[in-house]
Amino acid sequence: MESIKVRIPATVANMVCGFDILGMAVENPYDEIELRLTDKSGITIKHTDDYNLPTEAEKNVAGVSLIALLEEYSKPVGFEMTITKNIKPGSGLGSSAASAAGAVVAANLLLGNIFSKEDLVRFAMNGERLASGVKHADNITPCIFGSVTLIRSIFPLDIVPLSAPPMFVTIVHPQIEVKTSDARQILRKEIQLKDAIQQWGNIAGLVSGLLKNDYELIGRSLEDVLIEPVRSILIPGFDEVKKRSKEAGALGGGISGSGPSIFMLSKEAATAKAIEQVMSELYGKMGIEYKTYVTSISRNGVCVVNN
Ligand code: ADP
Repeated sequence: MESIKVRIPATVANMVCGFDILGMAVENPYDEIELRLTDKSGITIKHTDDYNLPTEAEKNVAGVSLIALLEEYSKPVGFEMTITKNIKPGSGLGSSAASAAGAVVAANLLLGNIFSKEDLVRFAMNGERLASGVKHADNITPCIFGSVTLIRSIFPLDIVPLSAPPMFVTIVHPQIEVKTSDARQILRKEIQLKDAIQQWGNIAGLVSGLLKNDYELIGRSLEDVLIEPVRSILIPGFDEVKKRSKEAGALGGGISGSGPSIFMLSKEAATAKAIEQVMSELYGKMGIEYKTYVTSISRNGVCVVNN
């Protein structure tokens, strides 16, 4: 096999209470990467979209992730890569993670599956460092493992893949810019013990709810007393979207990654559609351009596309 095409899911990092440790892959939106193995070293990158992302390997998150992978591969090979991006950069839906994860999964398949999924996460984290300055894995891990993942520790890497009951995910992406660096900078550096207790109760509740297929427990646990109160001020309409989505039957939800996208989970497809309606009405009234998705959890993460 010399060439391969993969489809890469968007991801919702944090899942409200699990800042930097929980993430979930969704079916839509998704990116595609076509990768060709060459016997001459070097990485070339082409984009088929209009996002004007860098084509130099050292400046592209997919490029630096492949460079990290090749450093642990003994033979001098190279890659030609074509990226088709639907996940808008800076949306809070894991755009950079999708490129980084998709590239290393595709490369591993072309090289005969020699690396573990943990290795691939390690390589792709170099892409996240390029995009945001920090090696975080809460988008990359669900992208590569599928479903929901817990990162118990990043150094050393300790990944816990989690099961989840069938759920629908409604996403709204108001077309405003929230810089990941700004969204990180405004966070409080110190927290109160009473808030920490509430937060870890919610994280434990959410993980238990996912494993026990307990929708009510999942809903009750989708609460964030640390990050959301600070970050939501960067997203116009956030409180109203959340309140009205819950009234429409959402289990709960909040900011996707560092925003500005907002996601809501529901048990039924009809509820997920009703929530999309609520989101559209609100942003329509505010005169803010937006895009919505009604989707479900991606169980497999990055997968091969057969032409
Ligand atoms: P998101 O908030 O959707 O996760 P990020 O803020 O993590 O998106 O990443 C977007 C940043 O990464 C942008 O500054 C973009 O220019 C940079 N970048 C470099 N290469 C890529 C790529 N292949 N795909 C997406 N973003 C890239």
